[in-house]
Order: sequence, then C-alpha cells, then structure tokens
Amino acid sequence: MTIQQNLQQLQTQIQQACEQAQRASTDITLLAVSKTKPVEAILAAYQAGQRQFGENYVQEGVEKIQHFEGQGFDLEWHFIGPLQSNKSRLVAEHFDWIQTLDRAKIADRLNDQRPHYKKPLNVLIQINISDESSKSGIQPAEMLDLAKHIKNLPHLCLRGLMAIPAPTNDIHQQKQAFMQMQQLFEQLQRALPECQIDTLSMGMSDDLTAAIECGSTMVRIGTAIFGARDYTPK
Ligand SMILES: *Cc1c(COP(=O)(O)O)cnc(C)c1O
Repeated sequence: MTIQQNLQQLQTQIQQACEQAQRASTDITLLAVSKTKPVEAILAAYQAGQRQFGENYVQEGVEKIQHFEGQGFDLEWHFIGPLQSNKSRLVAEHFDWIQTLDRAKIADRLNDQRPHYKKPLNVLIQINISDESSKSGIQPAEMLDLAKHIKNLPHLCLRGLMAIPAPTNDIHQQKQAFMQMQQLFEQLQRALPECQIDTLSMGMSDDLTAAIECGSTMVRIGTAIFGARDYTPK
C-alpha cells in the first residue's frame, strides 16, 4: 500500500469511528507521526493532503522543518517527544506545537525563547494517565496548577491535553484511561474558559476508535501511514 492509500484508509477508519460516536469527522485531526522517516515520505503524505506532522527528536524535526520551509510548504509541526531543557530553544524557534509539556520550568524557557515575530507556541500538557513506569507527563492532580502557570505566559497558547496510555489489548482498560482523560479535559475547559482549550490528543492506530468515542480530537499515527520504522544505524 502507498502512503496515499494508507492515509485514505485511516480517514475511512476515523469516519467510521465518528459515525459510531455520533461526532463530526471534521472534529478529528490526524497527526502523521513522521519520526525517522525521510522528507520524501513526508512529501508523499503532503501530496495526499496531509498537513500536520509529528516529530519526536528535536534535531531531526528541525532539519525537516527547515527543508520544507525553505521550499515554501505550509506544514504544521508538532513536537511529541520528551523534551530536555537544553533543547527547548530549538522547539520554541521552529515548531508550531509542543504536546509533551509537563514542567513549569520548561514552559518558562519555551516562553522566553519563542521568537516574538511568530504566533504563540501551541501547548498541550502531557498527563501520565496509566503508565506508572513512564517518567513523562504529570499526575492528573497537578494539571490545574501547571495550566494556570502556562496561561500567564504570553508566548505560549494552552490548547489542551495529551496522553500516551500504557499499551493494553483490553478494550475496557483502554477506555477507562481515555474516559479519565475526557473528564480532565472538560475540567480544564471549565477552569480556564478564557483559553482556547480545544485539543485532546489521544489514540493511536490500535485504539483510535475507543479514543474517538471518548472525545479525542487528535489521533497520532506513524506506522500505519509510513510503514515500520528502522532504527538501525545507517
Ligand atoms: C511514535 C509515536 C506515535 C505513533 O506511533 P505508531 O505506532 O508508529 O503509530 C504516536 N504518538 C507518540 C507520542 C509517538 O512517539
């Protein structure tokens, strides 16, 4: 299957999940996760209509962003990997979104480093919803404090929440994590009505139906679009 066919199949899958959940498919953004994939693969997705791309590694992402910017493409770039504070400047200067914010200190750095001629950096707070082994993301109880902190930073724009639940084949466990995220998301919307809280990033290829049923507005998909990743050194 080509990248174009993979994207079409995913759009169909998203549409079916939306029909089941009685939601509009236009409410869901498909984020194409292009980490480790070459610019040719991104170009193929672009030519099939894809505009939002997710990258996990700062340096690799910046190289791709500069490649496409140099050619005048209108792509939207999301940073979705863990961020070390010494790499924050590159994210602030080049990306449109960061989905993995989980510390006030990094928020401050990104705010200071965001170029003023650019629009504010869109931010999702990463919640550690079920994966106790993971160091990424904050606990649900810490969400509001961090959100209020971000709200006061003029070069960041808080847009919502992101989660990577622990992988499981149990649909009920899956849904439990997603439903918890939906509740947190609604709590955040109620607490900060002055912010544009409109993005709940959750769901990957195996669980996008459950995620959409529970209010996801953005699903993040790599392998099902671009094929398996090759991590062996070149
Ligand atoms: C890699 C990655 C994805 C996509 O994973 P696939 O299994 O390739 O679809 C989604 N979200 C995050 C945060 C990722 O790091």
